[in-house]
Amino acid sequence: MKGWKLVKPLSVKETEVVESNEIESLCKVKITKSLITRSDVLRYNGEIDCKNVFLGSSGVGIVVEAQANLFGLEKNNRVYIEPNRECSECFNCKSGNYTDCSDLQIAGEDFDGFLCDFCNAPADKLFLLPDSVSDADALFLGHISTALEIIDLLKIQKGDYVAVIGADSFGIIFSQLLMYYQAVPIVMTLDDENYKIAKESGIYYVLNKDDNWQKEVSVITGGRLAENVVYISDCNISSSKAFSLASHNASVVFTGTTYNNTVPFMQAIKKQLNILCVNNGFGNTASSINLLANKALDLSYLKTDTTPSSHVPQKLKELNDDYSNTGKTNEVIVEWL
Ligand SMILES: [Zn+2]
Repeated sequence: MKGWKLVKPLSVKETEVVESNEIESLCKVKITKSLITRSDVLRYNGEIDCKNVFLGSSGVGIVVEAQANLFGLEKNNRVYIEPNRECSECFNCKSGNYTDCSDLQIAGEDFDGFLCDFCNAPADKLFLLPDSVSDADALFLGHISTALEIIDLLKIQKGDYVAVIGADSFGIIFSQLLMYYQAVPIVMTLDDENYKIAKESGIYYVLNKDDNWQKEVSVITGGRLAENVVYISDCNISSSKAFSLASHNASVVFTGTTYNNTVPFMQAIKKQLNILCVNNGFGNTASSINLLANKALDLSYLKTDTTPSSHVPQKLKELNDDYSNTGKTNEVIVEWL
């Protein structure tokens, strides 16, 4: 199999890999589409350490080889490949709590990702895609799974207000999911393009750089401020906002792929906030596919580019230039022929 590996920061090379002997216990999938995410861009530029593996955080494809009688999985099935794998060695894994694995292995970082033509994966990491779920939507299952994890963690109920700081693809998906569960997102962004997308996608409360966020959130919540705040670390907004918009004893979730933010804790301690961190939604893939099949989300609003697999190096360079200049990156769908 052939794909794009990171040779050194800012340089990828098309690399052929000889398949190992353990392949017999694995299923072989022809990748049809993969997704370059912000995490891939940060691996590409060296901000996130990664092993010498194919990049690519998300992938869908067609099963080309599977053993007989394997959980109903058959040749020609269209599948999403789970990008997270339990380590099987930590305390939680050995206790059978795989979804709480303390050393979760991530595609494109710890093992080969999906910027390649074929991939071998254990059958339990392949999820059949219903006809009603498009490849393009399935590529965002990682985002949806993480959004679901946060909603579970916060125990979101009908009518709850949630301040969402950041309106990138994840912010839009998370807010749409909140609305599906009849909660009320209040989305904040400094970016004009993301503001427009958030508004168009049907989110009612979207605040931009011209609004007084504290005042608006106070008015919307009847003076209480937000009992739930989700801060997406990729938003280019000071993390102190997460605490100033929170009510006393509120829950504040930090998520995202940017890890070098400075967080001033004075307000958090004064308000006795519950601070939670989420960086994956491992274990939620089946539920997330179900949400897409039920049309709980409309991902047509997300701004994504599509590129052929041969253009991956140029695309990564462009994305990294965008990131250096604006702090922003949009996802790119890569098509494999
Ligand atoms: Zn583990």
